[in-house]
Amino acid sequence: MTDGHSWDERAASGLSGPELCAYASRLIGSDPRLVLWGGGNSSVKTVSHGERVVWVKGSGADMKTIGPEGFSPLKLDALDALRSRSSMSDDEMLAAQSAALASERAPRPSIETLLHAWTPATHVYHTHADDVAGFTCAPKSRARTRKAFGADVLWVPYVRPGFDLSKRVAEAITRRPKAWGLVLDKHGALTWGDTAREAYERMITLSREAGRDVRLPGDRPELSEKPARLVGSHAQRRTAARRIAGWLQGDLAKPSVVRWCGAPEVLRFLARPEAAALTQRGPFTMEHALHTKARPLVWRGGSKEDLSKAVAAFKRRHQAYRAAYAPKAPAVDPSPRVLLVPGIGLFAAGRDSKAALVTEEIYRHTIEVIARVSSFTRYSPLGLKALAGVEFWELEMRKIKGLAPIRSSVPAGAR
Ligand SMILES: [Zn+2]
Repeated sequence: MTDGHSWDERAASGLSGPELCAYASRLIGSDPRLVLWGGGNSSVKTVSHGERVVWVKGSGADMKTIGPEGFSPLKLDALDALRSRSSMSDDEMLAAQSAALASERAPRPSIETLLHAWTPATHVYHTHADDVAGFTCAPKSRARTRKAFGADVLWVPYVRPGFDLSKRVAEAITRRPKAWGLVLDKHGALTWGDTAREAYERMITLSREAGRDVRLPGDRPELSEKPARLVGSHAQRRTAARRIAGWLQGDLAKPSVVRWCGAPEVLRFLARPEAAALTQRGPFTMEHALHTKARPLVWRGGSKEDLSKAVAAFKRRHQAYRAAYAPKAPAVDPSPRVLLVPGIGLFAAGRDSKAALVTEEIYRHTIEVIARVSSFTRYSPLGLKALAGVEFWELEMRKIKGLAPIRSSVPAGAR
């Protein structure tokens, strides 16, 4: 559980603008229950040479380590002018963001830039916090949000990040100026404040309160009360895991790194009879699909050939999923990123050791959230169609590939 005591007034005093935003972002980013590997973003609005500027976290930058140079300055008047538009394609939005950049050397601004620009407060933080996003993966998420927080925390239904979502959020805040936070259904949390500390503490409060089991009449647990007993020793599991990891690596695209996690909480979850079906419903926030894919492969053990067949079937299912929901998207490697083997543990695959580590950590959080939500109600995350909208979205794919900073057409010093 996060606490609210990480803010150090001495460390923050004397900081302003992007330095202060970087300080608050690192605090938020240091708590993995709030932010995982490049997720989340933050912003601050300043006035520079008489011009209003919003400094938004660069796309894919890590909040855990970000410094002031990780933020992109954008001219707020130019972004505000876009609000009168009724719609905007992703390409138009990116071009407008690029044209609004106030520095030549700025990193590529987050695809959630408009969300920040149009939230009226000076300091704005956005996360995919486990507890907030997890709590929306339950029936009647709007009523649940109201019950947990009252009317001053807003709720917005799932819309893919970009122009439309930013507009809906801005309209919701305009309708309720007293609001201090917002829950994005099956996505995450947004808080704001006049000071960085206020916005930070609101994020902590939102996450803490969403972490309580907010129950509604009619809720029924989906998980059996007692986890099944674990059999075998850690050493036995490790030996089996080495063998399975080697087999899996042989079935994946090259290069691939496979990590094994046999943590007790993972094993206890996988030992439950309901676990396999629950994992097939997908991640609790859509962005995680970029790292774990929409679904993990669950395999109950067998020979090397059995695993190869299971991986081949997974690839076919993934290709069918892409063909159904994103037929025009560029082809991607259809191999599983997560293999779950009850009794042995979780295997995470990636093109290098960092990618495998990111996948493992994200999936461990996924298991924790699925177990918590289904302990009191039905775990109901985003459906495949909406997930495909993110998993095969070029903007997001670009982000995780970590492309080099873009150059703006605005001359240096124009801010
Ligand atoms: Zn987001």
